[in-house]
Amino acid sequence: MGKTHPFQAFLDRLYLKYQSLGEGKLASYIPELAKVNPDWFSICAVTVDGRVFEVGNADQLFTLQSISKVFVYGMALEEHGREKVLAKVGVEPTGDPFNSIIRLDEYSKRPDNPMVNAGAIATTSLIKGTDPADRLNRMLAMFRRYIGHDVYIDMSVFISERSTGHRNRAMAHLMRHFDMIDEKIDEALDLYFQQCSLMVNCRDLAVMAATLANKGVNPITGDRAVSAHCIRDILSVMYTCGMYNYAGQWAYQVGIPAKSGVSGGIIAIVPNQIGIAVFSPLLDAHGNSVRGIKVCEALSQHFELHMFDLPMGCSHFLQTLENEA
Ligand code: GLN
Repeated sequence: MGKTHPFQAFLDRLYLKYQSLGEGKLASYIPELAKVNPDWFSICAVTVDGRVFEVGNADQLFTLQSISKVFVYGMALEEHGREKVLAKVGVEPTGDPFNSIIRLDEYSKRPDNPMVNAGAIATTSLIKGTDPADRLNRMLAMFRRYIGHDVYIDMSVFISERSTGHRNRAMAHLMRHFDMIDEKIDEALDLYFQQCSLMVNCRDLAVMAATLANKGVNPITGDRAVSAHCIRDILSVMYTCGMYNYAGQWAYQVGIPAKSGVSGGIIAIVPNQIGIAVFSPLLDAHGNSVRGIKVCEALSQHFELHMFDLPMGCSHFLQTLENEA
């Protein structure tokens, strides 16, 4: 057996350190999320040259939830271009909870940004296709390129999301009133609930994050998942709006583009270097994974990954990895 890579050893130590942290609550708005094992915990990282580091339950499946918003936003940018997408969804952080219903921009009537539910539903409504099945298949094909293998929807989560999603439905109708989405309201909502119900594991998340870090090319398969010119827009919105109404503190303390989901996943991207994913379903009051935040804070601090850790920025990370090997 070869020597454990120092980065792997670091992840192993983080895992042990935070495994016992039992703080936080499981999401409870649907039964499927309320009944998961609160001890599930995994940290995975994939470099842009395809090296995989993982610890914990890296194979445990869970639903993508709000992390899907990032990738569907990329798909809308790709299909329609920045201007058309900007006309329907802004790029302004809200400071409000993700499911806040009251905020549509006062003048434009757009939802503030694509990382809150209203903005995500508007983004999803832009996905092209001849009918609902075609739109779903095109969306699944997009996720497949990021993940590198077939993807499936958890039907019971989808059905629960759909049958309890009255708030999301209300937002969609309000946006329809202001002409921000077209008349296919229920189709857009179904597609949104389906993207939230996509099954992934923590390793998949890290590969998706690494694909964003690698200018849109999956570092394991070599397939392009999204055009390179969309990456800057995607990462900018993640940086300012990706962590719900904790986004400002995250930008301040951790300082890298990220997105969390209510099932306990977090992805974080160090551009041109590495994609990081943490999965642990116990959430804080903002809806972010408690262990996930701790792990990302520790990684950012130790490796000086914050965007403004000048003068080196994060560009030295792969070099550090080599030096330590
Ligand atoms: N399905 C959830 C919703 O639309 C997703 C929320 C999330 O992960 N924040 O309310």
